[in-house]
Amino acid sequence: MTKKKLIAGNWKMNGSLAANDALVRALVAGMKDAACTVAVCVPAPYLAQVQALCAGSALELGAQDVSPHEQGAYTGEVSAAMLKEFGVRYAIVGHSERRQYHGETDEQLGRKVAAAIKHGLVPILCVGETADDLEKHGPSAVPVAQLRAALAGAGLVDKKGTPDIVVAYEPVWAIGSGQAATAEQAEQVAAKLRETLAELLGADVADATRILYGGSVKSGNIASFMREPNVDGALVGGASLDVTEFASIARFQKHVGT
Ligand code: PEP
Repeated sequence: MTKKKLIAGNWKMNGSLAANDALVRALVAGMKDAACTVAVCVPAPYLAQVQALCAGSALELGAQDVSPHEQGAYTGEVSAAMLKEFGVRYAIVGHSERRQYHGETDEQLGRKVAAAIKHGLVPILCVGETADDLEKHGPSAVPVAQLRAALAGAGLVDKKGTPDIVVAYEPVWAIGSGQAATAEQAEQVAAKLRETLAELLGADVADATRILYGGSVKSGNIASFMREPNVDGALVGGASLDVTEFASIARFQKHVGT
């Protein structure tokens, strides 16, 4: 089955009203011929601004986190229902920076995945090993365990229905380091993640789920990842803040020749 590839930019805690305006206008103009789905995951205060800038274009909107709670006394959190009101389609869940700096656990992340799905958002569930994990356990053990735990925590295992979820394989050692995984490494882990999806959610869901690679993706290496059969797109951090780079990444088909 053919899935549209997804290129999602993660701005992290970057941006300003002026910078976002310039970046999104240029992106909307520059990615007209992108044959994949393109999204930007922006800091929560800028959702309304970017929603307005994306209006009428194919550029989709994402958030960088979502609360597991519906509403109430959870100071600082943003609910899935609130994100939905701002036209958000994707919510990153379990980025390694949130796991590391905010101590987010797989159990909490499962509840975030469930909250996102309940409100019609597509969670982009991030999994990935540290350099230490890689040395001790090899490349796929930790990402697969994180995926299993989050799907179980979300109550999705062995349930009927086909949740629209995106899994992003992001080796922690590759994020922001300039040292991307090789396409072969990304494919090896993506294939294991798909096998795990098939085991837990069924073959159809596994086939339909987009698995992204993230970690130092640039215009110069995107094509190599996109050639891999189990890599359905990329989650892009630093390079998503540079319009020339990000637009070029989003037009990767030109490099791949598809
Ligand atoms: C990320 O933050 O998800 C990421 C992949 O960052 P970078 O592309 O900068 O490595």
